[in-house]
Amino acid sequence: MSTPSDHAAEAGQRTADRRAELAGALARVRQDIAEACAAVGRDPAEVRLLAVTKTFPATDVALLTDLGLTDFAENRDQEAGPKAAELARLRPGARVRWHMVGRLQRNKARSVLHWADQVQSVDSVRLVEALARAVAAAREAGRRHAPLEVFVQASIDGDPSRGGCPLPELPELASAVVRHSEQLTLRGVMAVAPREARPSDAFAELAEAFDRLRHYHPEATELSAGMSGDFADAIAHGSTCVRVGTALLGGRRLASP
Ligand SMILES: *Cc1c(COP(=O)(O)O)cnc(C)c1O
Repeated sequence: MSTPSDHAAEAGQRTADRRAELAGALARVRQDIAEACAAVGRDPAEVRLLAVTKTFPATDVALLTDLGLTDFAENRDQEAGPKAAELARLRPGARVRWHMVGRLQRNKARSVLHWADQVQSVDSVRLVEALARAVAAAREAGRRHAPLEVFVQASIDGDPSRGGCPLPELPELASAVVRHSEQLTLRGVMAVAPREARPSDAFAELAEAFDRLRHYHPEATELSAGMSGDFADAIAHGSTCVRVGTALLGGRRLASP
């Protein structure tokens, strides 16, 4: 018969195994980022690593904070809010930043402010307006002080099904953010490579659009591009922020929209 202390020992072993697994994966991802940077003469310090923790539990996020990661990304408000709250209970002292990278409904603009330090998936003028109103309301209520950092999300192939704003409309979207600069700070551009295209072609096109945008908005210094399968290509084309899920945490069992 197994006793409570057997169960505790098993749980402790599972945690130790998972920590070792995450440590190994993190070392490999860091090494791959370093190699991708070296191949194009970039300094790895220019490339931030966002761990995309969607579908994985807060206990994994806690282990990743122990391993020195500070930036975590989620794609669903309903999942991320409780997870961020649980992490705060598991690691009360940890300084972490949460990033929203998934499609955001306008009626979730208020809710996302409860957990997200940055929203990278801003893809319409109406969403800009909803977020600006939500930030203004939170400040009036004394719940926050600073503006919200946002990225405009570009759709490289113009296919709206995966979110993002078509490249020709990106300047207008960025201007909408800047019109609300009391509430929103434009940090950069985010994109997901289209499934059909070669990542290096897609990221080359994105890099051009990013350069054009920065001509008008030099404050938009960040390019968030590259996931587990294509971050080396994204780094070659100037990415300053890679969003890595599978390569760090393993395959996702649950479907994630
Ligand atoms: C899930 C997700 C990622 C991470 O994808 P992986 O292939 O698991 O690394 C990156 N960016 C966005 C917007 C995502 O939704």
